[in-house]
Amino acid sequence: MPTIKIRKEKLLKIKKLLRDNAEEIQKLATIHHAKLLGSSPTHKNQAEKYRQAHVKIIKAYAFYLDDFKKGTVVFKKLGEKLAKEAVQDGLTIEEAVDGTAFQKQAIWAKLKESGLLKEMSAYGLFEFSQIIESYCDVIASKLAFNYHNFFTEKFAQSNERFRALIEQSADAIALVNAKGKVLYASPTTKLLMGYTPEEFKKLTNPFALVPPNDRELVTKLFAKLLKKPGSTEHIVYRVMHKNGKHIWIESAMTNLIHDPNVGAVVLNYHDISERMLLESQKDDFISIATHELKTPVTSIKAYAQVLQSRFEKEGNTEAVRMLSKMDLQLNKLTNLIRDLLDATKVAAGKLQFHEGSFDLTELVKDIVDEMQMTTTKHLITKKLAPTKIISGDRDRIGQVITNLLSNAIKYSPNSKKIFVSTQTGKNEVQLRVQDFGIGVPKKKLKRVFDRFFRVGDAEDTFGGLGLGLFISSEIVKRHGGRIWVDSVEGEGSIFRVALPIEHDDTKKYLTRATAEDIIEERENPAHD
Ligand code: ADP
Repeated sequence: MPTIKIRKEKLLKIKKLLRDNAEEIQKLATIHHAKLLGSSPTHKNQAEKYRQAHVKIIKAYAFYLDDFKKGTVVFKKLGEKLAKEAVQDGLTIEEAVDGTAFQKQAIWAKLKESGLLKEMSAYGLFEFSQIIESYCDVIASKLAFNYHNFFTEKFAQSNERFRALIEQSADAIALVNAKGKVLYASPTTKLLMGYTPEEFKKLTNPFALVPPNDRELVTKLFAKLLKKPGSTEHIVYRVMHKNGKHIWIESAMTNLIHDPNVGAVVLNYHDISERMLLESQKDDFISIATHELKTPVTSIKAYAQVLQSRFEKEGNTEAVRMLSKMDLQLNKLTNLIRDLLDATKVAAGKLQFHEGSFDLTELVKDIVDEMQMTTTKHLITKKLAPTKIISGDRDRIGQVITNLLSNAIKYSPNSKKIFVSTQTGKNEVQLRVQDFGIGVPKKKLKRVFDRFFRVGDAEDTFGGLGLGLFISSEIVKRHGGRIWVDSVEGEGSIFRVALPIEHDDTKKYLTRATAEDIIEERENPAHD
């Protein structure tokens, strides 16, 4: 235990100096401390708040300089109080400890300035500095102890909160390593999959629960994810519940293997079977309803044509004019019904195609002439490359061209010109449809090929379902081609379609979308 054997008279002088100058010493310590902390108003307020406590500490130094036993008890209390306030005020441990260190420095500076230091023997100085250091250590250790307790408690609380969050989440969470082994499964796993977390962890590979059709896509996306630390993949797929039934899962996988706090891929998933069922019921409904509409509309069209030719023979021009208008409206209705039916088929992967070969130039020419007849406001100018043969379904590609042209007409109500051209490359032929109409805002460009997507203004002013481009995009993709758009809002749009020219090896165009196609499509949307 440090003791002080300085001559009584000198000791009293030091005590008096510290007592009488406690305020001044603390002022100096505060100035140095404030310099270190910067001069933000919060720090200024805090320095002022702690001034009084520190003045008390300086006075305690004076009082207990020669009574270490009692002094230690008092300094422990002072340290405790200081620590509690510092923690409460959100001071960092460095800020709190620095306060006592600057105080110590200020005490030495005052002693030096008073000349008292010079008068002390080397041994006296050593004793004195030991006492001051010890008291300072008592305060610092109290600060450290309190901060340690505070952070341990806070950590435990946040861990607890985090655990509660995961355990009560409606989503199931699993941590898997790079080999797909489950390291952790949250309790919700039981609710979703029927397996307890322990049973789930014992599965050699949770991807084995994914039916073969979806497994390829899931494992390929997982492999892709492993190559990119920090990346996330969203995916919808089916898994087999413990009861043997398939459920639909929507999952987000995030690669946090490199993160030392996690060290795993985090799978976050929930059951969307009900939503998928409703979607398919909705598609079934649209499909049945439109199918039922198709037959009467076809008959009406046939009767209208019969009537039209009768009235023509009778020379009843007024009736002929009205019937031809009716025929135009019926065509619109037929197209709407076809789009609705096709869209449900695309969603179910059942859009039908008829294989064949056709001359694209001729097809474009026919459709341009046909579309020109539907508008008196627009002049469609064509510049077509020499004949090129395309493998595929003539009617389906015709549907794409008709859709692009009718959009060009529909979305350019105040301009006359529409340009259509084809260009031939080595392996593909490119069709270009340009209008000078309302254009598409840059932000919405990517989405015009989405199902039911319509740009805000179009929704209010122009009729349509937002399905034409969605279907066109599927048709083009199934032909091994690409479709994309360039547009400037208010200036017009250029839609382009690229289709492979027929070589013997391009005849296998009508394939189902493979896992590679889907991944490739996610990375490079054909319609960027
Ligand atoms: P629809 O025309 O029936 O709404 P589409 O799928 O053909 O459906 O088009 C989707 C949306 O893309 C349209 O609603 C429109 O907002 C926008 N769009 C398509 N073509 C053009 C165009 N040529 N100019 C401006 N906007 C267009």
